Amino acid sequence: MGNITFTMIKPEAVEAGNTGAILKRIEESGFRIVAMKKVHLSEEKAGKFYEVHKERPFYSELIEYMSGGPIIVAILEKENAVSDFRTLIGATNPEDAANGTIRKEFATSLAMNAIHGSDSDENAKIEADFHFSNQERF
Ligand code: UDP
Ligand code: MG
Repeated sequence: MGNITFTMIKPEAVEAGNTGAILKRIEESGFRIVAMKKVHLSEEKAGKFYEVHKERPFYSELIEYMSGGPIIVAILEKENAVSDFRTLIGATNPEDAANGTIRKEFATSLAMNAIHGSDSDENAKIEADFHFSNQERF
């Protein structure tokens, strides 16, 4: 492991029709799509995915948002995937995101920041396994 990360294109970015543009940025940056699908998470499933944030003040808002519409979930492969993908998406708050990052271009607020990227190799595996079976990876 160490060569994969997990991403979600979040509801407002999918709704705005930015899926294709964001995937283009991802592929142009050297990531290979191992697995991908469109899903609409239940509140329960979104709550489970973000369980690490359970005690944070924004947790309930985050669950409502992430279960509010369909999202694109994907596993991406590249050398140094987790770290390089975090660089590509930019800071959590789009106001702090560097020029040229996906969040700088597509995020609309700190909460609605267009895209998720795993923060460690360990969490990339947990998050990928949460959404995909081995038969869905190519
Ligand atoms: N979030 C929020 N308010 C905050 C911090 C985070 O609404 O003060 C949301 C935002 O959508 C973020 C997600 O919760 O992407 C998860 O937060 P995390 O700190 O893990 O940021 P990320 O890893 O996504 O950059
Ligand atoms: Mg995070």
